[in-house]
Amino acid sequence: MSDLKCKLLIIGAGPGGYVCAIRAGQLGIDTIVVDEGKPGGTCLNVGCIPSKALIHAAEEFHRIAQAPQGPLGIRCGAPEIDFAKTVAWKDGIVQRLNSGVAALMKKAGVRFVEGRARFLDGKTVAVNGSGQVIQAQYIVIASGSAPVELPDLPFGGPILSSTGAMELTQVPDSLAVVGGGYIGLELGTAFAKLGTKVTVVEAEERILPLYDAELTRPVSARLKALGVAVKTGTRARGYENGRLQTSQGDVAAEKVLVTVGRRPRTAGIGIEELALTQDGPFVKTDSHCQSSMRGIYAIGDVTGEPMLAHRAMAQGEMVAEYIAGHAVQWDKRAIPAVCFTDPEVVACGALPGEAEGTAATLFPLQANGRALTAEREDGFLRVIWRQSDHAVVGLQAVGAGVSELSAAFALAIEMGACLEDIGATIHAHPTQSEALQEACLRALGQALHI
Ligand code: FAD
Ligand code: NAD
Repeated sequence: MSDLKCKLLIIGAGPGGYVCAIRAGQLGIDTIVVDEGKPGGTCLNVGCIPSKALIHAAEEFHRIAQAPQGPLGIRCGAPEIDFAKTVAWKDGIVQRLNSGVAALMKKAGVRFVEGRARFLDGKTVAVNGSGQVIQAQYIVIASGSAPVELPDLPFGGPILSSTGAMELTQVPDSLAVVGGGYIGLELGTAFAKLGTKVTVVEAEERILPLYDAELTRPVSARLKALGVAVKTGTRARGYENGRLQTSQGDVAAEKVLVTVGRRPRTAGIGIEELALTQDGPFVKTDSHCQSSMRGIYAIGDVTGEPMLAHRAMAQGEMVAEYIAGHAVQWDKRAIPAVCFTDPEVVACGALPGEAEGTAATLFPLQANGRALTAEREDGFLRVIWRQSDHAVVGLQAVGAGVSELSAAFALAIEMGACLEDIGATIHAHPTQSEALQEACLRALGQALHI
C-alpha cells in the first residue's frame, strides 16, 4: 500500500477522535483517522452505550418482576429473561452506531485507516496492519484508556474487566464487584436487578468516594433494598475456589468484576520516543490541548480525569477548530458528570465546600409532584451558590431519571446564571426540573412548595 499524507492525523476513533475528525472534515481539513478497532472507541463498543443498554434491560425486567408487590394494582406473573436475546439487542445497537459513526466521518470527507498506529517521529506514524506510513502536519493522540488490572486478580476466566462483563452471555448467579465507583455500581446494580447476588467491595469508606456522603446516601439505600451487599473499607486480595478473598473475609462469587479505574493507553504508540511531557501517566496538555511538542495534541481519556465521553468530544471539536485557525481554547466552566446508578447521580461544577464563600441549598424530591407520581421520591436537587452575588457555581441531583437534568445544570453554570435567573424561569409542571427552580427559590428564602 502506498504511503499517505494529510494535514491532520488522529490516532483513535473514540468519542474524542471521531468528533475531532468530523469537525475537521466539515472545516475542510484533509483528515485521516487510524483505529485498530471499530469506530466509536471504548464508549460506543464496550462502554457508555452497551452498559446503558444492559442497565435499561435490567431495569425493565426488575420493574415487571416488582410490579405485583407495588401499589399500582398491576397483576402479572414472574418474568423470565432470554439473556441471549438481550445481548443480541445490545450488540445490534452498537453495530448500528458503529455504522453511523463511519458514515458521518465519510460524509465529512475523513479517511479511515484500520490498524495500530505508532509514532516514527513528530510528523510521521506507521500503521501496523495496513503497513502504511502516514505523514501529517498535525497529529492528535486520542488513544483513550483501558481498565486497570489488579496484580492479585488478573483478567481472564471468572475475573472480568468491564469489557468482559459486557461480553457475558449468561446472567451469573453471584458477582463480586471490586471497586464501588462509576462502572462497578452501574453494572453491579444492573446485574442485581437481573437476579444476580451482588457484593461490592470498595477500598474507601464509602461508595462513589468522589462525591459527598449526602449525595450518595440514596444510592446506598437503594443498593441495600436491591439486596446488594456493600463492603466498604475493604480490599480484594485474590480469588480461589469460587471465592473472592478480601481484607474483611471471603465472598462467594461465580464471577468477579474488577472496576478500580482506567489507565491511559500510551504504551506501544511511541509516545516515549517523542519525550512528550506527562502528567503522571497521562499526556500533559495546555489550554489548546496541545502537548509539549508543537503540532501534537492530545484529547480525551489519555489526558486524564474526568474520563468522560462528552469531555473527549468537546476537546476534539475544540482542537479541530483551533487547527482550522479559529480563536478557541479549552475554557469550559463545568463538565457535567452522570452516574447511571439507581437512583442516578448528576454533578456539575462545585460540590459543597469546594468554592469559597458559597452555600448549599437542597430541595427534596419528596416535595416534587412528578417524583411522587413516578413512585420515586428518593433523592434531591442541590444548588451551590455564591453568597456575594448569588451566582450558581454548582448543581447536583440524585434521583430516578435525573440524568436528563444535566443539560440544564451545565447550561446554567456555563451561562453564569444566578439564583434569581433560575427562580424566575418558568419550569413546566409536573416535571422533576421544578426541583431546580424550587432549590434556587429556597436559597432566596422564597420556596413555594416546601
Ligand atoms: P476511547 O473511547 O478509549 O477511544 C480510543 C480509541 O483509540 C479506541 O478505539 C482504540 O482502539 C484506539 N487506539 C488506541 N491506541 C491506538 C493505536 N495505537 N492505534 C490505533 N488506534 C488506537 N463516559 C461517559 O461520559 N458516560 C458514560 O455513561 C460512560 N460509561 C462508561 C461505561 C463503561 C463500562 C466504560 C468502560 C466507560 C464509560 N465511559 C462513560 C467513559 C467513556 O467511555 C470514555 O471517557 C470515552 O470513551 C473516552 O473517549 P476517548 O476518545 O478519549 O477514548
Ligand atoms: P472509578 O474511579 O469511578 O472507581 C473506582 C473505584 O475503585 C473507586 O471507588 C476506588 O476507591 C476503588 N478502588 C480502587 N482500588 C481498589 C481496590 N484495590 N479494592 C477495592 N476498591 C478499589 O473507576 P471505574 O468505575 O473503573 O471507571 C473508570 C472511569 O470511567 C471513571 O473515572 C469514569 O470517568 C468513567 N466512567 C464514566 C461513566 C459515566 O459517566 N456514567 C460510567 C462508567 C465509567
